[in-house]
Parts: sequence; C-alpha cells; structure tokens
Amino acid sequence: MQVNMIGWKGNHIAHMNFGEHAKMYGSPFWNFHRAALQKRLLDRAVELGSKVLVKSRVSDVKFGEAGGGVCTVLLHDGRRLSADLVVGADGINLAKRECLVGHPDKPMPTGDLAYRLMLKTKDIIKDPE
Ligand SMILES: Cc1cc2nc3c(=O)[nH]c(=O)nc-3n(C[C@H](O)[C@H](O)[C@H](O)COP(=O)(O)OP(=O)(O)OC[C@H]3O[C@@H](n4cnc5c(N)ncnc54)[C@H](O)[C@@H]3O)c2cc1C
Repeated sequence: MQVNMIGWKGNHIAHMNFGEHAKMYGSPFWNFHRAALQKRLLDRAVELGSKVLVKSRVSDVKFGEAGGGVCTVLLHDGRRLSADLVVGADGINLAKRECLVGHPDKPMPTGDLAYRLMLKTKDIIKDPE
C-alpha cells in the first residue's frame, strides 16, 4: 500500500510504500502508541543500568573544560555532571546544539506544515473520492 502526502496546492510532498518498507526491514509495518514505545525504551535503558534524573534542567554544556574529552553538563540547580559523551536530545529548540556551535542556531521553517483532524468513518464513506 502506498500513502501520499499532498501539499495544499496539490504538490507532492512525500510518499511511503508500506510494502517496500516491510521488505527492506524484513518486518511488517507496526503502528503503536508513542507512550508504549517510550515506556519500552525507558524500561530497557534502566535494565541496562541507566540512571534517570528528573527535575534536572540543563542550563549549559562545557566541552573539554577540565582537559581531555570530558564534557560537563551544568544543571539549573547548580549540579555539575561530567561524562565522556553527552547526547543532546532537547527537542526542536536545540539549545544544546547552540552550546556546541557557540552561537544561536534556531530551527528553520521549511514552509511545510501538517494539520491533523479526525473524521467519522461514516462521513468518509459518503464521499466517493
Ligand atoms: C501535537 C504534536 C503532534 C505530533 N504528532 C506526531 C506524530 O503523529 N508522528 C510523529 O512522528 N511525530 C509527531 N510529532 C512530532 C514529534 O513529537 C517530535 O518530532 C518528537 O517528539 C521529537 O523528539 P525529540 O526527542 O527530538 O524531542 P522532544 O520529544 O521535544 O523531547 C525533548 C525533551 O528534552 C527536554 N528538554 C528540553 N530542554 C531541556 C533542558 N534544557 N534540560 C533538560 N531537558 C530539556 C524536554 O522536556 C523534552 O522532554 C508531533 C508533535 C506535536 C507537538
């Protein structure tokens, strides 16, 4: 099955062939709630020994401050956490990337936006297209 994403002017934005993806990855296409995926990732991370800290807002990241490749993460409450590797995964505003590149680096609008809505199946069936 192929799904097409069409822009409001009728232009093609993207498409995806679920059958081809199934062949490429050797698995059928799965659809699931993101909370279920997040829970599985969290459980596995904890199982592998990860320590999860909440209420730990990052205010800055210092690279190689103490020499070598060690990074230090500064938290709003003054705590400092050091590690060999820091992965910035703080979402669209990418503040941690700005710490790395050393200047403001805001997200760039692409001009494409997607709006979602829900329709009743009986209303969809009434429309021949
Ligand atoms: C209403 C809505 C519907 C969406 N629907 C879909 C969909 O159906 N399918 C899809 O694929 N995508 C969807 N998206 C997009 C999807 O949610 C994002 O692409 C995805 O969440 C990005 O993941 P991320 O891990 O990069 O960032 P995020 O999910 O934004 O996670 C960033 C995390 O970093 C934390 N953080 C930020 N700053 C700091 C800081 N200074 N210190 C510590 N922590 C910090 C935040 O609290 C957050 O927990 C939707 C988005 C929205 C808003």
